[in-house]
Amino acid sequence: MSNNIPIFSAKEQYPQIAADLEAAVLEVLRSGNYIMGQKNKTLEQQIAKVCGAKHGIGVANGTDALILALWALDIGPGDEVITTPFTFAATIEAIAMRGAKPVFVDVDEKTFNIDPKAIERVITPKSKAIIPVHLYGQSSDMDPIMDLADRYALKIVEDNAQAIGATYKGKPTGGFGDAACISFYPTKNLGACGDAGMIVTSNDQLAERLRCLRAHGSKQRYFHEELGVNSRLDEIQAAVLLTKLRHLDDWTEKRRAIAGKYFEVLKNVPSIILPNPAVKADYRHVWHQYTIRVQETNFGTTGATMRQQVIDGLAQRGIGSMCYYPVPLHMQQAFQHYGYKQGDFPITERLAAEVLSLPMFPELSDREIQAVGQAITEIMTEQVAVQPIVVPTPPVAI
Ligand SMILES: *Cc1c(COP(=O)(O)O)cnc(C)c1O
Repeated sequence: MSNNIPIFSAKEQYPQIAADLEAAVLEVLRSGNYIMGQKNKTLEQQIAKVCGAKHGIGVANGTDALILALWALDIGPGDEVITTPFTFAATIEAIAMRGAKPVFVDVDEKTFNIDPKAIERVITPKSKAIIPVHLYGQSSDMDPIMDLADRYALKIVEDNAQAIGATYKGKPTGGFGDAACISFYPTKNLGACGDAGMIVTSNDQLAERLRCLRAHGSKQRYFHEELGVNSRLDEIQAAVLLTKLRHLDDWTEKRRAIAGKYFEVLKNVPSIILPNPAVKADYRHVWHQYTIRVQETNFGTTGATMRQQVIDGLAQRGIGSMCYYPVPLHMQQAFQHYGYKQGDFPITERLAAEVLSLPMFPELSDREIQAVGQAITEIMTEQVAVQPIVVPTPPVAI
């Protein structure tokens, strides 16, 4: 079978919006106004609105957004920030860049997101903030997290890099925390043609401080009130994002429809676990990734894993797939000095060994979804037949 189905492709999107996008970029090129202009301001307002927040502060990328948010909240050396080890490295980099210590909490295996029940026992007098990451496009369980924040006077910084447009109990992600961080990396649901990011907040003082920090600690040019950095969202990217933002809802609905079709074509495949079907009805999952689990009956042993067979089988059939993320952050070399070890977060470790994200972008056709479904069905049926039967270790419950 000769498919050519990438895990993600921005190329498909381009023809739909080419005329508008090129006109918007050309307008900026001809304006001579490239940094901190009207497009950035308009985008800041519109993204804040999407997130149900008052202010948006455009920055250079999502990682900077996280660093600056922690900075503006005065989080630094001696402080602890609670988060998940099952996320992209940037979440932890930001904590480390502030000189604070990441304190990990295992995730809920149904949602891949931080388990609120596990947070309370790691809170110490040094805890300053929690960073819930809305992984794969699905909100973290915010009510209990906000409740802990209230009870222990902790700040909340949402990592909303993967979930713009998602809601939790009817309220958009990004509108819960003291601040929320968004990435417009090209593969994100709202992607720039380059790097860009934003912080949203409803706190006036925090917004003002963030505007100052991203521009060399200065409100008035050449008068520096405090140490800052250069982290700005340029006008060309703002023009791109404003153009694409008009389609975001439509693209999100297409992703949701694709996820629905994946459930249909995959529901009878043996030995895989489908993502929790948008959990409860009051979550709007925006399906940044459609991530299945290939159950590793031999988890913890060496040798070719079932997941690797699926990856290889898909690749042979011209279908892309990806593991987000194969190594949990507490086991990364870069973060060894925090003293965590294998076994500390068993659910995360199992997920890291089992997750597999399938092709997901709004333009994915029914035929392509069928082809992915058929390929996985074939591969797993074959695998289950040849694999020795091993009683699966049930995932460790917290
Ligand atoms: C993409 C991403 C980031 C970082 O954003 P960049 O714009 O690439 O710097 C942070 N956190 C998560 C969860 C992400 O997926």
